Amino acid sequence: MTRVLYARPIKESLHLNLKSTVQKLKSNGVTPWLRVALVGDDPASQIYTKNKKKFIEGLGGKCDIVHIEEDITEQSFKAKIKSLSSEKGVHGFLIQLPLPKQLSHLDVGNLIPPSLDVDGLNSLNMGELLKGDMKGNFSCACTPKGIVTLLDYYDIPISGKNICIIGRSLIVGKPLSALLTNRSGTVTLCHSKTENLQYHTSNADIIIVAIGSPKFLKTHHLNPSKNQTIIDVGINKSKEGKLFGDVDFENVKESVAAITPVPGGVGPLTILSLAQNLLQAAEKTL
Ligand code: NAD
Repeated sequence: MTRVLYARPIKESLHLNLKSTVQKLKSNGVTPWLRVALVGDDPASQIYTKNKKKFIEGLGGKCDIVHIEEDITEQSFKAKIKSLSSEKGVHGFLIQLPLPKQLSHLDVGNLIPPSLDVDGLNSLNMGELLKGDMKGNFSCACTPKGIVTLLDYYDIPISGKNICIIGRSLIVGKPLSALLTNRSGTVTLCHSKTENLQYHTSNADIIIVAIGSPKFLKTHHLNPSKNQTIIDVGINKSKEGKLFGDVDFENVKESVAAITPVPGGVGPLTILSLAQNLLQAAEKTL
């Protein structure tokens, strides 16, 4: 029987812990404060930032969303980010992606001081991840961190397992490959130039798909004799507004041991990781 790996029980089980950490911080005079820079009025970004604010405030923390005009110049944008992120009392700062065209080439992680970089995109935090700091004294990219939380919660072993990641983005595939390597997984990082993808997916114990292509992964990629676990990171919206992952859930579900749904799988854990990174940053100021 296929196990469907929902985020909800994980969120419920960790919520109390996070809340009590916030209470401890507050009793020491520190209210964890996340500041989000939102450029323009992209509807999806507005929803994502609102959800982040709701979650942080639900824990008892503070979150402000700073709206920046869509046509801001690069120079003014950099100056604005510098001033917003240097305000006393801010523990975490993030720039909501995507950015408008004139800013899209910017290395956003490095516009933010490493101590406030709760998205784990600053070169220093990325470097700590590569060095394999097992104590996690740095902010790790939120979606990869959420995926590891999910695998641990459902007791899906990582050490020694063949793990095939499809997609090599800086926010998911690359940091995830480092994180799982640090946990002694044997990681293969595939991408659009990979030859014979099926060879890699069929040898994997865990397949993680993050490519932004609806229902891409199908049964012909799988090897049912391996009792595979499928983690679907993709969020794709149809014209009617329905959400689909990068995995053809209905097509593959009977051929695998475990699978995350979309929605309700990896997505909610990204915000959970963000809150964990924020609280860690706030604790460092005590
Ligand atoms: P991206 O869009 O920056 O890059 C896509 C990657 O997929 C590239 O590395 C490319 O080489 C690879 N790729 C594309 N087509 C491929 C193919 N046919 N075969 C093999 N590799 C292929 O990636 P991203 O920003 O990581 O986003 C990927 C998906 O994950 C999107 O749907 C995005 O919305 C979703 N996402 C979800 C969360 C979450 O919280 N659940 C977080 C981040 C991204």
